[in-house]
Amino acid sequence: MTNPQTIDLLVIPRWLIPIEPAADRVLEDHALAVDGGRIVDVLPVDFARQTYAPRETITLPHHALLPGFVNAHTHSAMSLMRGLADDLALMDWLQNHIWPAEGKHVGKAFCADGVRLAAAEMIRGGTTCFSDMYFFPDATAEVAAQVGLRAVVGMIVMDFPTAWAADWQEYLHRGLDVFERVRNLPRVSTAFAPHAPYTVSDAPLLRIRELANELNVPVHMHVHETAGEVKNAIAASGKRPWTRLRELDLLGTDFIAVHMTQLSDAEIAEAGTLGVSVVHCPESNLKLASGFAPIAKLLAAGVNVALGTDGAASNNDLDMLGEMRSAALLAKAVAGDARALPAPMALQMATLSGARALGLEAEIGSLVKGKSADFIAIDLDHPSTQPVYNVLSQIVYAASRDQVTDVFVGGRALLRKGQLQTMDQDAAIARGREWRDCIRG
Ligand SMILES: [Zn+2]
Repeated sequence: MTNPQTIDLLVIPRWLIPIEPAADRVLEDHALAVDGGRIVDVLPVDFARQTYAPRETITLPHHALLPGFVNAHTHSAMSLMRGLADDLALMDWLQNHIWPAEGKHVGKAFCADGVRLAAAEMIRGGTTCFSDMYFFPDATAEVAAQVGLRAVVGMIVMDFPTAWAADWQEYLHRGLDVFERVRNLPRVSTAFAPHAPYTVSDAPLLRIRELANELNVPVHMHVHETAGEVKNAIAASGKRPWTRLRELDLLGTDFIAVHMTQLSDAEIAEAGTLGVSVVHCPESNLKLASGFAPIAKLLAAGVNVALGTDGAASNNDLDMLGEMRSAALLAKAVAGDARALPAPMALQMATLSGARALGLEAEIGSLVKGKSADFIAIDLDHPSTQPVYNVLSQIVYAASRDQVTDVFVGGRALLRKGQLQTMDQDAAIARGREWRDCIRG
């Protein structure tokens, strides 16, 4: 018999949910072997003990081990505006509350502090990767790298001036500067992030398509968020935003369409044919009464559907377990079919489908050999998740984020036994309070 191979870490959970090759697979008496930040094996515990000599073993006797959640759409710095303005329609909320507050306060310090507060919340809730769209993406990238989260930061583009840029050329110029700078940061990448059809004109969108092809980065955009957006576009140009984006050649396999609550059957079929990914944000859509994304129809058309929380100013949390449950419940109501979006599919949307949307499926989204060791543990030994007939059912329909005990990204612990390992939560909360006092005036 050969000597056991030395590795960094062996994790032995009660249940191991790899998501691949199938989202409904649950392994028992299996271990996850990690070395150099990567998954080197998923194998039976007996065999693992013979094969590997781990430097550290983590035994999780009551826990489910699964890939970290991928929050495919958020504005993390907006955590500083959580609860600033609620119970308002989208355009009233944006034009009369959010945009004025942003105009006064947003700068690099605001963004860094907001992202830090969001990071503490995201890590505690089992999110290991987030795709962000906001001003000062350099700050988002720096904080993500500091705390060890994986991030895709959006190179935001709008037509109108903000603290970040004066016009679309400057947005692109500053975005590309961030693109160059984050190349050297671990686990951080970029996407073009034209805000929405109603805030970005044709010229920047054409330029973004050219640059996305050249640099091989995805394009992340709010699309068809509300009926009003579609109606106004038709009144102004005679075209639905989706049609305009297609004519600008923006829609393709690298396009990430967020919201998509207003879709004709033809547009749903086209999303499938073109290979567009959709990010579903059910709680933000519910809170802003934006509409209901036809998730069962999109899935039936073969569309890759990921899940996002949107920002904490319109959700009001960054809780992917909660979002997954809302998505599963809402899809059934919208489809009029209790079989729509079953638990394994909801879990896949929160993990592997998010990775696919971001172009990161070779690296994250499932627990298979060769991928980065981005995983989380959820303790099910809790009155609200006992007894366990079906572990996936408990995770999707009953577990809360307070049951997330351990979070690893690239083999590095960000949360151990419920304790943050890479950041000072009290300091992040204290800065949040200071910003509240400043914003409230
Ligand atoms: Zn959004």
